[in-house]
Amino acid sequence: MTAISVERLDKSFGNHAALRDIGFEIAKGEMVTLIGPSGSGKSTLLRLFIGLTAADRQSHSHVRVLARDVQRQGRLVGARREQRRRTGYIFQQFNLVSRLSVMTNVLIGHLGAMPRWRALAGRFTRREYDAARRALARVGIEDLAEQRANTLSGGQMQRVAIARALVQDAEVILADEPISSLDPRSAREVMEILERINREDGRTVVVTLHQVDVARRYCRRAIALKKGRLYYDGPISGLTDTRLQVLYEDAGLDEL
Ligand code: ADP
Ligand code: MG
Repeated sequence: MTAISVERLDKSFGNHAALRDIGFEIAKGEMVTLIGPSGSGKSTLLRLFIGLTAADRQSHSHVRVLARDVQRQGRLVGARREQRRRTGYIFQQFNLVSRLSVMTNVLIGHLGAMPRWRALAGRFTRREYDAARRALARVGIEDLAEQRANTLSGGQMQRVAIARALVQDAEVILADEPISSLDPRSAREVMEILERINREDGRTVVVTLHQVDVARRYCRRAIALKKGRLYYDGPISGLTDTRLQVLYEDAGLDEL
């Protein structure tokens, strides 16, 4: 069963080719790292998966997520919303509503899309609260439910974002540099949670990472991009030091 399939994907910004002729498939239940120097196209690729950006019009690109062609979704709001619900998106700059409580931020996952926050009060059922509480327990922060999101540490915020994806019951979790602004310990905890929801629930996880050692510890497969092209796709063990050197040859040393 395929979770994500990409064929002949081209994406340009003006006359700058951000992605060129990308193709791969990710099976349901895989945990894959997307790796490469900054500017190689990782975020653009993840954004394509949730329809936040579109492939080039004149191309023969296909991007399918959970069997839906995300480039040709049509205008049916319900269908789009359902597709968004099935795909959880977690990024570096924690996508929480800072003045709302942790609980409310997680409950938002039930809505499948970001609502106008004013309309939130009294909107959720007992069952939805229970599900949110279970999700918070799963990521280890049930005691923070009533705190405002902006009082949390970076690692705690990422856990809230993951709890929201759990409440959404997202089948695919896309995480764009979820640990890049975290201290090593929080980073490890967030990676362990992602690894656990992959292993225990069979959710597909695609995570962009800068740290190759972290990728090696948590992901079996790596997809590497270099200047918008597919540079490597295979077992992470195949991403040898020699290959990594070539992958990062034009990047600053601090990126490795
Ligand atoms: P990465 O996530 O690997 O660092 P990105 O996907 O953010 O790379 O960017 C890939 C390339 O596309 C870069 O050259 C970047 O400058 C360019 N790019 C990304 N988003 C935009 C945008 N909205 N407008 C113009 N150029 C963009
Ligand atoms: Mg990026």
